Formats: sequence, structure tokens, C-alpha cells
Amino acid sequence: MILLKYDIEENMDYTRLIRKNILALEPYSTARDEFKGGDISVWLDANESPYQNGVNRYPDPHQKTLKLRISSLFAMPAESIFVGGAGSDEAIDLTFRIFCQPGVDNAVAITPSYGVYSVAAAINDVELREVELGAGFSLPVERILAATDDRTKLIWICSPNNPTGNAFPKEEILRIADSFGGMVVVDEAYGDFSDRGSMLPEISGRGNIIVLRTFSKAWGMAGLRCGMAFADPAVIAYYDRVKYPYNMSSRVQREILERIEKGTGGHVGEIKSERIRLAEGLAEARCVLEVYPSDANFLLVRVIDADDVYSWLTDNGVIVRNRSRLPLCAGALRITVGTPEENDATLRLMKEYSPKKY
Ligand SMILES: *Cc1c(COP(=O)(O)O)cnc(C)c1O
Repeated sequence: MILLKYDIEENMDYTRLIRKNILALEPYSTARDEFKGGDISVWLDANESPYQNGVNRYPDPHQKTLKLRISSLFAMPAESIFVGGAGSDEAIDLTFRIFCQPGVDNAVAITPSYGVYSVAAAINDVELREVELGAGFSLPVERILAATDDRTKLIWICSPNNPTGNAFPKEEILRIADSFGGMVVVDEAYGDFSDRGSMLPEISGRGNIIVLRTFSKAWGMAGLRCGMAFADPAVIAYYDRVKYPYNMSSRVQREILERIEKGTGGHVGEIKSERIRLAEGLAEARCVLEVYPSDANFLLVRVIDADDVYSWLTDNGVIVRNRSRLPLCAGALRITVGTPEENDATLRLMKEYSPKKY
């Protein structure tokens, strides 16, 4: 195993950023938390069924084995990892709950972007200030910083961004992190498809960057619901306090470990080459006005009539995401890169479509 050292140059004072009730929280202590080793063969401490059936025992609340595996996979220390059993959506909600005082604090996000940020903000009664992307879906660094005030705890940056597909330059995200006193959350759900580099190595030495990753997309495990937050161990300690004690089942922990051993089956390379083929094919379809560059496993495509093309596709058995009502996305459909056969079917339909006749 690689030993990873964690090094924050100046110790950040997180107490300024964490909600007061979370700072004061006495976290729930599970039956197994208080037990520190020894030779136990009779477990009568957790009111479980004593009859072995594979799942009669509570899972490891700290997911130690899984975190060690994730640690070597992402070259990050185990103490810097939070694992969520409801995907990275769980980490998004926890981040609001840890940092933002409802009705008082606010957060800044880019728009258009992933819809869960605004839903999680609303659930937590936190004002979300949405800043439109710049020309060519660029990161509006100055406008993002200008939207913050002394009650802004979080800035959300999705990179590669959903639904626009582009990853932002690292230097620009770092410029935001270096100019902002709160936490910058970088959602890298699609990071595995990008050649732009991850923000993970930037966590050490900075302290105010949180990176979200997930096994749902490139790793092909959306059904297992496993997402991660990486941050300074002092920050991750708050996630561990606030999370549900047993937030990932033992079967899921086991199955993720098994599937990590098998890898992604080489599909990331295949999806990246299909992304190119799909983009080139779509650009030839007469109903397509623009195919935006993508660092993800989907393409944002501007068409002549998004609602009509969408209906044509769904009525022929292909569903895509109609994003045409989002800011800056008029006329846009978001199309996931499928298998070669699925992409062929989509391309054929897109080329067959004729405006309004339908
Ligand atoms: C799909 C997606 C996620 C959700 O990941 P889960 O781990 O499945 O919850 C997070 N962020 C973005 C931007 C996504 O598109």
C-alpha cells in the first residue's frame, strides 16, 4: 500500500465555516464504535439477529476496507474520504447541512448546471445564487466571486459540467479557491472521461476544496449508489459526524470492492471514442445546429426544434434529455453516449427526422 501524507500548509480554521450546531454536535455512537479490539466471539451488543444469513450483522459504519481501496485508487489518504450510500447526491446534501445555516447562509453555483444543487439548497432553506456561464460556457470567475458576500459558505462548480459537457481550466477553479474564504465544491462526476486533470491533488495544501466523485458514471455502478467526497481530513470528520450512522449496506460495500477489482471493463476508452463518432455523426444531421465539445459521456446538441426532435426520438424508442428550458440551453438536447449500436440507432433517427412534418 502507498502511504499518503496529508499536508495543509496553513491549518484552516473551519470552525468559522461550520454551522454552530454541527460544531457542538455529539454524534451518534454505534454499538461497534465503542469497542476497541479484543477477542470477541459472541456479539450481543447491537440487537441483531444471531442467526447467520449473510446480512444479519450491521455493516461497518466507517467503510474502512472500502475506503482503503478508494484511497489507493484515487491516490488520496483514507482519512480524506467520505463515502455515501445514496451516491454523491448524499454528499451534496450533507455539504449544505454541514456548512449552511438555514435561512441565513447562502451558496453560489454556476448555471446551467446539475439540478441537485438547487434542490438540496431549497430543502435546506439555503439561498442559492446562480451565476450564468460566460461565452462558450466558460467559467465566469469574476462574476462568481462578485456574487459572494460574508454569508457565502459554498461555491459549487461542476467540472466537467452537466449539461454543457465542458471541463473548466484548473487554474480558473484555483483562482476562485484562492480568492474565496469559504469552501469550493468541485463536482467531478464525469472526471473519468476528461483529459483536463482532477482537482484531487489540489486539496492538499489548500484546504478549502471539496471534490465529489462517483462510481455511477464511468464505473458503471449507478444502481449501487456510491459517491464520494474528498477533502481535508478535518472537513471529512464533519461528514462522518452528520451522516446516517450506517449509510451504506454491507452488501453494497462488498459488491463495490469486488467490482473495483474488475475495473470498468475498458468502457471509458470505448465511450470516449464513441463520443467522437457520435459527435461527428450528429454534426451531419440536418436538424443539428451545433454539437458542443464534451469532456464527459454525453453531448449537448443544439437542434432546430428541441421539443419536436425530442418527441420524434421518444416515439421511436430513444430517450434523451430535453434541456432546452435551462438558461443558455435554448434548443438543446443532452444525449448520453451509448453502445455503438445505440449510437447508430440515434444517429439514424436524427438523420431521418424532418422538421414539423412529424
Ligand atoms: C450523475 C451526477 C451525479 C450523481 O451521482 P450519484 O453518485 O449517482 O448520486 C453528481 N453530479 C453530477 C454533476 C452528475 O451529473
